[in-house]
Amino acid sequence: MGSSAFGRAVAPRPPAASAPVEPYRIKVVEPIALPAPAEREAALVRAGYNLFNLRSEEVYIDLLTDSGTSAMSDRQWAGLMVGDEAYAGSRNFAHFEATVRELTGIPHVIPAHQGRAAEHLLFGQLAHRGDLVPNNMHFDTTQAHVVRVGATPLNLAIPEAYDCDDPHPFKGNVDLARLEELLAGPSAARVPLVMVTLTNNTGGGQPVSLANLRGVARLCRAHRKPLYLDICRWAENAYFIRTREPGQARRSVRAIGREVADLADGVLMSAKKDGLVNMGGFLAVRDPELAARLKEDLILYEGFPTYGGLARRDLEAISIGLAEAMDERYLEHRVGQVRFLADSLTARGIPIVRPPGGHGVYLDVRRFLPHLAPDRLPGQALVVELYREGAVRGVEVGAIMFDGSAPGSPPPLELLRLAIPRRVYTESHLRYVADVVGRVWDRRAGVRGMRMVEAPERMRHFTARFAPLGAPGVRSPRRRGTRGVSGTG
Ligand SMILES: *Cc1c(COP(=O)(O)O)cnc(C)c1O
Repeated sequence: MGSSAFGRAVAPRPPAASAPVEPYRIKVVEPIALPAPAEREAALVRAGYNLFNLRSEEVYIDLLTDSGTSAMSDRQWAGLMVGDEAYAGSRNFAHFEATVRELTGIPHVIPAHQGRAAEHLLFGQLAHRGDLVPNNMHFDTTQAHVVRVGATPLNLAIPEAYDCDDPHPFKGNVDLARLEELLAGPSAARVPLVMVTLTNNTGGGQPVSLANLRGVARLCRAHRKPLYLDICRWAENAYFIRTREPGQARRSVRAIGREVADLADGVLMSAKKDGLVNMGGFLAVRDPELAARLKEDLILYEGFPTYGGLARRDLEAISIGLAEAMDERYLEHRVGQVRFLADSLTARGIPIVRPPGGHGVYLDVRRFLPHLAPDRLPGQALVVELYREGAVRGVEVGAIMFDGSAPGSPPPLELLRLAIPRRVYTESHLRYVADVVGRVWDRRAGVRGMRMVEAPERMRHFTARFAPLGAPGVRSPRRRGTRGVSGTG
């Protein structure tokens, strides 16, 4: 049950001459401006070289995340105006519940203020100290929630996921042989649930095939383990199934998404991704008893079950956004924008994760800055350099974000994610980003390493502070007064 059945390679494409034409026109604009080089330098110092600490006005093109940064449609904005802000029984909740039920076929719908709140509730009920939680690859908040309850996250993606060049079309797939080994082995009793993340954000936004999901579901049923899917990018995943998986081309993205959900005992979603909203999320489960317990926790941590930490108008915007994200013309443009940026970088010889995934382009830091050893934090060095060059904000997805708290898993890839917000930037913005990355690529040999000077215990990438090291070849000074920086360095 290996991955070979889906070894169908995605042929490398010639550099795209242009990005796909937008299936929308622009009704509202927000000014942005490029800060001067001296302003960028001062901002870096003030931020402790952590771009999470920048002020938004200090950023020109913000590719920090695709989470909650989407542009809403006119229909979604109109939806806000029909918010029924009743504490209980709001009609917007009824619309939201009906939409999630229709799209997923899962009966018990529990709203949450964002994805990690849904993770908090789910793992709070299902995972305990000493448990093992398999996933294709844990995302940072998922991993932190598993660790918080004393369980161990296991990353079981196929080996191709760890090779940035491997052309496998579904590098988000679970290694079914390893999953079976776990579920049939001596530690099986410690596995409370199996999770799969669509798409695999940590591994480059890579999709999971329908065949692989069917295989995971079969194993879960055989070994009586519930299967939960993180569906925050399931529309993008379904689009990849439709366009890359044999026999799926004539099905609608909606039908594929529904089949995916049919395989699961429950789903959780950060609606800040494929919900096309700025805030929101949910859990949906089939087990009525679990749903009742989750709702008790929901009332404690989030709010009453008909709002779950959100304004009711937000639930209306999610209901509309979930449906819009399933629109095939929207998805073709969305994935096409990512491919355009990816191909523009590949044409310059810049190493990235290929084939490009669904929500961003991931630079392969090890090959971009081979002169910087892991302890010189090359991912962070490159993040800083892209900002310095052109006020482009990306994020490290590597040893800083995944700090060795998944001990049963392979070491993380060393990536820099340029996440593309949905319906926000145009072809000329993406060309500008490619030029900025290209200019740093041309002077890459001179890029210096960084060191971490302040590191919190958990989710350190959000708040750590850094300092630049000396010129390449100069030994890094000894770290002093830092906590939690040993990790996978
Ligand atoms: C963003 C994300 C989450 C967490 O969602 P938030 O809305 O940011 O709390 C969970 N899993 C994956 C794969 C994500 O990308």
